[in-house]
Amino acid sequence: MTLAANLKIKSSAIAHHVMALLFRSRSSFFALICAIFLFIGCSPDNSDTKGAELHTFSGSIMGTLYTVKYLPPNVSTELASVEQVNTQIHARLVRVDELMSTYKQDSEVSRFNAAPPGEWFEISVETFEVIKLAQHISHQTQGAFDITVANLVDLWGFGPNFQKPEVPDFEQLKAIHADVGYQHLQLHDSATKLRKQTTLQIDLSAIAKGYGVDQVADYLDEIGVSSYMVEVGGEIRTRGKKPDEQPWRIAIEAPNTQQRDIHSIIDVTDLAVATSGDYRNYFEQDGQRFSHTIDPKTGYPITHNLASVTVIGRSAAKVDALATAFSVLGSDQAMRYAKAYNVAAYFIVKEKEGFIGKASDAFISMTQ
Ligand code: FAD
Repeated sequence: MTLAANLKIKSSAIAHHVMALLFRSRSSFFALICAIFLFIGCSPDNSDTKGAELHTFSGSIMGTLYTVKYLPPNVSTELASVEQVNTQIHARLVRVDELMSTYKQDSEVSRFNAAPPGEWFEISVETFEVIKLAQHISHQTQGAFDITVANLVDLWGFGPNFQKPEVPDFEQLKAIHADVGYQHLQLHDSATKLRKQTTLQIDLSAIAKGYGVDQVADYLDEIGVSSYMVEVGGEIRTRGKKPDEQPWRIAIEAPNTQQRDIHSIIDVTDLAVATSGDYRNYFEQDGQRFSHTIDPKTGYPITHNLASVTVIGRSAAKVDALATAFSVLGSDQAMRYAKAYNVAAYFIVKEKEGFIGKASDAFISMTQ
């Protein structure tokens, strides 16, 4: 169903409450226009009056920026002071970065990647949780989502080694591709241990930012914060409404490689939102575009006409991973998956006449 016409474009919201969260880190682009203001450090933001003071805390992590807007908890707990809440927010994101980064040589994931195949490797509860979810989504999407693509991502030039992106040598690609596959990765069934059967390496870039958002949002829930918007590199999770009783307004960017346009705006409450697209983090060679999303079945970047996909749900980690999985599947197969599993997804597809928006039934019911 083409929904673009029905999705409300709120120009007032764009002027009043929408901030472009369009930034590009070396290895990634996050294309979401979110209803937040970006201040460095913490600042009370009285623009939403009704007496409540919405706090904004921002910083950088995982090669990108994060922003958390929240109403301090109304119960006096020893953690209620804004400085202590901010310290806890940053600590949770640093923990995810230290465990799951492939950009840090001493992270848990980098040490696993450097370990030889065949041996059980002790991991933290957090990393175990993320990989368990990743493997579940790999299984459900017949391998479209696959964290064992790290060596392919590097080979195409989109990984942490910052090598020049270019079409790799076919024989080299074939050799690396032979070792890729989530079925070669095993989680221990009674301990937090991980084992690989081949020389594969894992890359959590498509799920761990969402997990970081969930870690912060779960903490804010625990201390009784009733209204917040947590955003890390474009992955978002919200709670409640803003102090002015308005929902959090999230917009989806038009997949335009030349300039920043808003395609549509959605109102969300108590939901997570993630978007993946192939129109920012790519390179062109001999007139062909190669994006950072790899089809694990071929070892090549995706080639279909799906420009961007936005997924909404309860868990930021899950919608983060599903957005990448749908980017690999393409809009037809992904729409079938969305219908079968009642997933709220919005696809922007490149057609001859321009970009067409297509929404799953669950997306329509969640955003009306
Ligand atoms: P998404 O669509 O969310 O993910 C695409 C990424 O997933 C690709 O870039 C690739 O890495 C991987 N991928 C490709 N195909 C598949 C597939 N089929 N299945 C599963 N995964 C796939 N970037 C920096 O520049 N510097 C840093 O220091 C840095 N640190 C990081 C630390 C952590 C813990 C994480 C999670 C990421 C870090 N990043 C860093 C990467 C960056 O933050 C983004 O996560 C990354 O570029 C992908 O985010 P995205 O939203 O653009 O793309």
